[in-house]
Amino acid sequence: MKILFIILDGLGDRPLKIFGGRTPLELAFTPNLDKLAREGICGLIKPVFFGPFPTSRDGHLALFGYNLKESLKRGPIEALGVGFQLKENDLAFRGNFASVDKKMRILDRRAGRISETKELISALNGFEIEKVKFFLKRGVSHRFALVLRGENLSEKISDGDPQKVGVFPLKIKPLDKSFSAYFSAKLINKFLEISHQILNEHPLNKKRKEKKLLPANYLLLRGAGIFKKMESFSKKWQKKACGIAGGAFYKGIIKALKMKLIPVSGATGRADTNLSGKVKRAISSLKKFDFCYLHIKALDIFSHDKDCLGEKRYLEKIDKAFSPLLKLKKTLIVITGDHLTPCLLGEHSKDLIPVLVYGKGKDKTKSFSEKECKKGSLGVIKANEFLKKIMIEN
Ligand code: ZN
Ligand code: ZN
Repeated sequence: MKILFIILDGLGDRPLKIFGGRTPLELAFTPNLDKLAREGICGLIKPVFFGPFPTSRDGHLALFGYNLKESLKRGPIEALGVGFQLKENDLAFRGNFASVDKKMRILDRRAGRISETKELISALNGFEIEKVKFFLKRGVSHRFALVLRGENLSEKISDGDPQKVGVFPLKIKPLDKSFSAYFSAKLINKFLEISHQILNEHPLNKKRKEKKLLPANYLLLRGAGIFKKMESFSKKWQKKACGIAGGAFYKGIIKALKMKLIPVSGATGRADTNLSGKVKRAISSLKKFDFCYLHIKALDIFSHDKDCLGEKRYLEKIDKAFSPLLKLKKTLIVITGDHLTPCLLGEHSKDLIPVLVYGKGKDKTKSFSEKECKKGSLGVIKANEFLKKIMIEN
């Protein structure tokens, strides 16, 4: 049987007073999701992660059955997603253009969400320090990926982004006693210093200052990771796989696992994405592929913005776009999230994630909600055991 595996980023929430004790998923009018749940089976997924809360990286890799410790870090995944052709042992980061004042304090972590970064990127691209080359590529708006290529690079180094304003950017520090960690940290600090000088003097930033816009004069880096090849999804699960996503990081997941990336015009990774286009492409791709991963991002964005009503409304939008799913034959449909992002919290949480599986029998679930999933026949499954369970019994 073919599998359509849909990840609604940040799916699921907690009961809200403003919604009369219901969650956004319970309150939202979602006849299609409810029908899929009623005619399918439901359950809860226990997230697997390191650190204080699950990230999208952890959530995705665990659901796809990969060992989190052995898998790529966020930096190289993001770099693949923005279009880098990485080589083994490249060191990659994801980053933001940020604004700092004369004393080097961070004014804005996103440089006013600048979008015109092309010239800035070219001014920094191809730099070489101690025989290590630095390459940058644009991401969406203020985002970019940075890749270092050369000898003696290590991912055992800290982030440069303090994740708040009014403070100094962090110096990159080695996280172990190896020469390569020390060397990598030293190189990057040097690059950050030089790039700050270049960016500060750049005509584009001078123009921005004249227009009273924040200058993009500093690079905040995080998610350092060394690129190494991962086992392809198709080989691991013996299924010819493809993926559809708008956001760079999720495209990076598709590339890292060597699924075929299916482009969809208007897929932005934001709330304005071409939802029905993505769903239609996912369905048609199953003619050629055995497994299709479809990522939809915006619920997570609404929740980070603490916009509970936005989350509820977007669920209704998703539901409408899902109506063609009900006509799908001989296909197992999985709908779940990579982690919860409760909208009152505005951050990811460790809560159990609702999941529905359609095309594999039926339980007593009446609708798609956190509460109903708790009663579902799938029970509670650890994220990294879920796909195996579905595949074996498929
Ligand atoms: Zn996520
Ligand atoms: Zn998130």
